[in-house]
Amino acid sequence: MKPFERIARLALSDTRHVFAALEGGQALVLDGAPWTGGVPTGEVVSGIDGEGRGTGPGGAYPPGVRLLAPVSPSKILCVGRNYPAHARELGNEVPAEPLLFFKPPSSLLDPGGTIELPPPSISTRVDHEAELGVVIGRRARRVSVAEAAACIYGCTVVGDITARDLQKKDGQWARAKGMDTFCPTGPVVVTGLDPQALSIACRVNGELRQSGSTADMFFSVAAVIAYASQVMTLEPGDLLVTGTPEGVGPLAAGDTLEIEVPGIGTLRAQVGSAA
Ligand code: ZN
Repeated sequence: MKPFERIARLALSDTRHVFAALEGGQALVLDGAPWTGGVPTGEVVSGIDGEGRGTGPGGAYPPGVRLLAPVSPSKILCVGRNYPAHARELGNEVPAEPLLFFKPPSSLLDPGGTIELPPPSISTRVDHEAELGVVIGRRARRVSVAEAAACIYGCTVVGDITARDLQKKDGQWARAKGMDTFCPTGPVVVTGLDPQALSIACRVNGELRQSGSTADMFFSVAAVIAYASQVMTLEPGDLLVTGTPEGVGPLAAGDTLEIEVPGIGTLRAQVGSAA
């Protein structure tokens, strides 16, 4: 069987969530995540293109189908200040070693979902950070940089949404980075890409806010995997979020956020106030 190139996760009903390989305008339903050996069941859903878009009128999905974040990680490991120009724009240096932090899986947001701004009593400054996401395909424990490349399954797009005021105030970044909806991810996972040769663009209400290249990462994806794996096992399906290029800035209720990585697709999210 040839390797899958583009992976989505779909809700086929309220209770049935599946991984699927996208091919020729169809979604081939898998019996599990591809990074844990999932294979096609034979069930096919038509009407979804390779970037996870519905191909019905006005981009509609087939009835009852919804696009989900294309991952189900045990952990979301992130790198801070990994692009020199971004580190400088916030008055920081690039760290001597990768600066690692977590976002909880509960922060994941499906493509097209709504980022919920916290009430002003908690935070008054929430920023976009457009980032490349990397899905782990093979267990990584104490791997070398050379071995780390083989632990990558594929690439996706992530918004590392950040309450900047809390990041400055709190010693740890769990609140600032970890709120519900603060990790929009998708639309799909794509295999076979060079993670150090992708461009990233971030638009807010259609206006370009960030434009960078993953070639400018200070620590490569493989270097970060090797570094992290010395102290924690990275499991298949774990999500690595690799840092943001410069141009971060605030989001407001009513905004539309788009993060595009050509070769993967465009991740969209709305911004709303807390209920
Ligand atoms: Zn970030």
